Amino acid sequence: MMQKPKVFVTRMIPEEGLTKVIDICDACIWPEEFPPDRASLIEHSRDVAGILCLITDIIDAGVMDAAGPSLKIISNYAVGFDNIDIKAATDRDILVGNTPGVLTGSTADLAFTLLAAAARRIGEGIDYIRAGHWHTFKPRALLGRDIHGATLGIIGMGRIGIEMARRAAGFGMNIIYYDHRMRPERGTDVDARMCTSVDELLETADFITLHVPLTPDTKHLIDVAAFKKMKKTAVLINTSRGPIVESDALYEALHSGDIAYAALDVTDPEPLPADHKLLGLPNCLIVPHIGSATVMTRNRMAVMAAENLIAGVSGRMPDHLVNPEVLPYHHEKS
Ligand code: NAD
Repeated sequence: MMQKPKVFVTRMIPEEGLTKVIDICDACIWPEEFPPDRASLIEHSRDVAGILCLITDIIDAGVMDAAGPSLKIISNYAVGFDNIDIKAATDRDILVGNTPGVLTGSTADLAFTLLAAAARRIGEGIDYIRAGHWHTFKPRALLGRDIHGATLGIIGMGRIGIEMARRAAGFGMNIIYYDHRMRPERGTDVDARMCTSVDELLETADFITLHVPLTPDTKHLIDVAAFKKMKKTAVLINTSRGPIVESDALYEALHSGDIAYAALDVTDPEPLPADHKLLGLPNCLIVPHIGSATVMTRNRMAVMAAENLIAGVSGRMPDHLVNPEVLPYHHEKS
């Protein structure tokens, strides 16, 4: 009988995906709630044909070299892949897979939920009742901002950015966007206006939502200077990656009133320690990186990540490949 390819799966992903992996591969599955530390990651990656990993696993050249020449594919259980050194993988003819599309709607749903919750101060309202302050109807208490008629600025008009625009259009918002790959056609089905610079968007928008990947270009895209350009009434929503916003600058902007509110699914650092200063601000709403966290979406991600992994270890092209430039070489390797 032919030997099954050896793989390391760095966490208990949903059953639908795990079953597929176990059927085809000789899988070592990390059983813990917390990610493997670097030493364990290296130890378990030795001589494997594939690694199925999460964004909490840093897969750099060291891990790839520890795995050795048998490693054909790194399959990320995420659409973002800033946890993987793509150049190092490409240099070693290793395929990198991700899970685009299946989490687009769920992440846009969460981004819009955060927008609405921040606009109408939902978190503060819940705290207010729980603290026993709800004694009467107060004409001046907990006044928020209208969503309808407000201008939404979308930075990164890709898959999730476009879905966010569709949701915003349904709420009667005016939509503007900035994307470094200028795509005027992006706005057509949702009537969105393209800005020619990030600054124009920052100065104009009432709500600003981030949907760019984390890259050297987007790290700290929202810094002290960016906050100064925003309206004092601006609300920032981040469901992309924490380091796109400079955390200290965000704290100062919220604390000093340079902007009105922030609603975050992702933070820097992540996870955010319970005593972090951002958590002490009444105008900062934070949820723990749950953009894709619906039953359906996490199942679909698991299946997609498993299928990418299986394709890679079987010498086939994964459906969702981050570094297609590696393919001609990979073919020879397998
Ligand atoms: P995508 O590739 O479809 O869209 C990203 C867009 O950003 C593209 O249109 C691209 O041209 C644009 N962009 C890239 N660099 C830019 C820059 N420097 N300036 C302006 N625009 C730039 O990706 P997507 O599927 O929409 O996902 C976007 C990001 O969302 C992912 O990379 C991931 O980090 C994050 N994400 C988070 C969660 C979550 O759970 N919170 C879930 C899914 C995705």
